Amino acid sequence: MADDILRIRTPIGIDYTWSSGPGSVVYMRGLENGKLIGRRCPDCELVYFPPRNGICPRCGVLLAAEVEVGPRGTITTFCVVNVPFLGQTIKIPYVAATILLDGADIGMQHLIQECEAADVRMGMRVEPVWKDKSEWTPSLENILYYKPTGEPDADFDVYARHL
Ligand SMILES: [Zn+2]
Repeated sequence: MADDILRIRTPIGIDYTWSSGPGSVVYMRGLENGKLIGRRCPDCELVYFPPRNGICPRCGVLLAAEVEVGPRGTITTFCVVNVPFLGQTIKIPYVAATILLDGADIGMQHLIQECEAADVRMGMRVEPVWKDKSEWTPSLENILYYKPTGEPDADFDVYARHL
């Protein structure tokens, strides 16, 4: 009876090859070595992390200088996840945040752990918790999550133009 089936689990996958391109290769090699490498636009001087496709979307020019950012950063915005979903591996409630790494001009998304979701706030200073070095790959997944540093919160003016 098809009407009685509420859920079915079945293995599914897609194999594909992704070409990083010159804009992302420095970023990925940095991650493989525990460094967060962005690129600076030669015109507007904004630092992009990740450097996306290697072109400043504002100026339309190739990003140039490599810039090491972070590893610490500031939470600019965040979302508390309270809704369970199939395949969830993190205990709810948990926080997904936009983090403005020190020296970068665009935020990146990552998890916040080692604190209560209710304690997370805009301006909170955070630092990465890395996987064991033996498990590193050219991926942002090398960072398990970010945790509070215990530093005083950043002033709103520091990250206001990055929201
Ligand atoms: Zn630019």
